[in-house]
This record gives sequence, C-alpha cells and structure tokens, in this order.
Amino acid sequence: MRLHQLIHTNRRVMDPCVEQTPLFTFGVIADVQYADIDDGYNYTRTRRRFYRSSLRLLANALRSWSEPAGPAFILQLGDLIDGFNKPRDASEVALRAVLEQFGGGAPRVHHVWGNHEFYNFSRAELLRSRLSGRAGPGPPARPDLHAYHFSPRPGFRFVVLDAYDVSVLGREESSEEHSSALSLLRLHNHNTDLNCPPASGGLKERFTKFNGGFGKDQLAWLDSVLSSADESQEKVTLVSHLPAHPGSTEPVCLAWNYDELLALIRSHGSVVCYMAGHAHDGGYCRDEDTGVHHLTLDGVIETPPDSDAFATVSVYTDRMLLKGSGRVTDRVFKFPCFQYNGPSPTG
Ligand code: ZN
Repeated sequence: MRLHQLIHTNRRVMDPCVEQTPLFTFGVIADVQYADIDDGYNYTRTRRRFYRSSLRLLANALRSWSEPAGPAFILQLGDLIDGFNKPRDASEVALRAVLEQFGGGAPRVHHVWGNHEFYNFSRAELLRSRLSGRAGPGPPARPDLHAYHFSPRPGFRFVVLDAYDVSVLGREESSEEHSSALSLLRLHNHNTDLNCPPASGGLKERFTKFNGGFGKDQLAWLDSVLSSADESQEKVTLVSHLPAHPGSTEPVCLAWNYDELLALIRSHGSVVCYMAGHAHDGGYCRDEDTGVHHLTLDGVIETPPDSDAFATVSVYTDRMLLKGSGRVTDRVFKFPCFQYNGPSPTG
C-alpha cells in the first residue's frame, strides 16, 4: 500500500468494533514554545507563531486530562519554551509559567528535550531541572543524557530518547562533543549560517544546527533495552524530539543519523510506535518493512488560538487509538505482528 493510501486509511473515524475498555491512556503534546511576546513567524516566515496563546492551549490540554479517569501519564515532546525568552531571567520566568500549568502531582509528565530547551538552558541545568526524568529500571543511557525507559503496565514500555546527544546545542564549546558535532555538521553543511539547510537539498537538509543525533553509547543502550523487551514480548513506544522516518516529516526536521536509528528499530520486533515533535505541521507514516507507526505531532506554537493541538491515546492489547484535539488527526495504530527470533523467554 502506498504512503498516501496509508495516510488516508488512518484519517478514517475510529474503528467501531473496538469498544473494550482501554488498558490505560496517555496524553501527548508537542512544541508549546511559550514566550511572553507578540506573535511572530517561523524561520522561513511562512507560518505564524502564537507565542502567548500557546500557554492557554497547553492549559486546554491539561484541563481535558484532569478528569478522575484521566491519562496515566503525559508525554511532552519537547520545545516547551521558546528560544526568544531572553535574557536568562525570562527563560526561568517562562519555564515557571508552563510548569505551573502542569502542576506538581499526577499525572506524571515525561518531558522530552528539544532544541529550544538548549537555547534557554545548559545540559547540566536541564539535568537538575523538573524537565529531567529518571523513571525506569536499570541505569540511564549515560549520566549526561536524558534517555530512560519506563513501563506503565506489564507488557508495555516507553523509551525517552535524547536527540541532541550528538549536537552543537547543549554542549560546551570547549568540549570534544561540541567539536566533533560541529565537524560532522560542517562536513554536510557549507553555509555560514548553519541554521540554513545545505543547498544540495533532499535528505541532506537535516544537517542543520537546530537538529542533532543519537550517539553510539545511546544506540547501544537502546539496543539492549529493546533486546530485553523482545524477550519479554513487550510493546515499545519510542519518544524523542526529532522524527526518525523520512515519511513522517520534511527532511529538514529529521535526526542527523535517523538511518542508524531506523535500522536499529527494524532489528527489534518489540517496537510498535515512534513519536516526535519538532515539525510543527505534523506528519505520519507506517514503516513498510516493520509496520511501526511513526507519528510527528502537530506543534502547539503554530496552532491558531481558537483551535487546539494535543492528543489522548487509548492503549489496547492489539492497538492504540489516538484521539486528536483541534488540528490533530485521529489515528489507529494497529500493532505489527510480533516477530522475534531470539531465545524463548522461558528457555
Ligand atoms: Zn524543535
């Protein structure tokens, strides 16, 4: 089936045959990019950005999730406050404003880190902040990374990935990590302004300063987490700021080494879904090789004040139903058939 047919299929209303109570639900929201400034435009001046209104749209989402039978947890897919929050005091005021909306109690919020987190704070500051999470069993990917996993219910696992592990953002200019990331970026991007995509176009457009990638240690850690999930026959959803499938976004928003991550995902039967933000128009594709669903969620920041941009996902044994609000499209994520050729869990 071709991509456009798959997209069309997923835009149909929810499957009426599915009436069982979900095992659990969770909320998802992306790219709030709040700043107490007048409306503006994106980098290419093609999309309006509603900086103040985004806080109210976040509040709309949280209100809908505040019911007693609300979601078990919330996934915030990154870029919570905008890089325009300057000077430093403004970053802290803006962060306080959005975190006040989330409140201090249930449901638990898992914050993914995007490029705008690093425009406002250093990696060390983020690790000490309320945007940091360490929820899962076992060690994190590496102490300086924001990558961990958790299981909200037996049989299901969520993995938060750090897409700015290899990036010039969030790394001290004097560090080896910064210089190697800059070398990689300059290898593919010869512009003076590295926020401007390479002129060659196509998939190379991802090599911009506002993107990043996943380092070897993080990929090795993910490989081991997914191997364990394969053996336990868990269904795994990966979440990160940067999309990892060319069919789910524009090339300019892809992770630098999306291809390595995709190859890793394809080598494990446990992955059912990958969720990202960053590309404010959203996107979706189902990977033809594996049936894994790749969702890029529409960004709050470019959503008109009279609309909304969030989703509530109901999880069943064989699928997830994403109910979109405002401009987010409803989708059905049927789980791909589990294919595992390793040792038996009981063997
Ligand atoms: Zn972003």
